[in-house]
Amino acid sequence: MLIDCPFCGPRESYEFQFLRVLAPSGADAFNEVYGRVNRLDVSMEHWQHRHGCQAWLIIERNPSTAQVLSVTLLRGDRS
Ligand SMILES: [Zn+2]
Repeated sequence: MLIDCPFCGPRESYEFQFLRVLAPSGADAFNEVYGRVNRLDVSMEHWQHRHGCQAWLIIERNPSTAQVLSVTLLRGDRS
């Protein structure tokens, strides 16, 4: 799985550390803590480019296929 870091470009996923699944807005606290996958086709996840630029990223991906749909910088990081 390749992750397109906004600073470093496409890198292998082993450079990145998965932190948690982000709950969709409006989700309750239980789902935020315990909901590992929000939907079967799209998962919004919090990752860090641990072995690169250290940037905190929000990665939207399909958990079934591991396809990365989008990579955005976590708001406020390096802005
Ligand atoms: Zn990076």
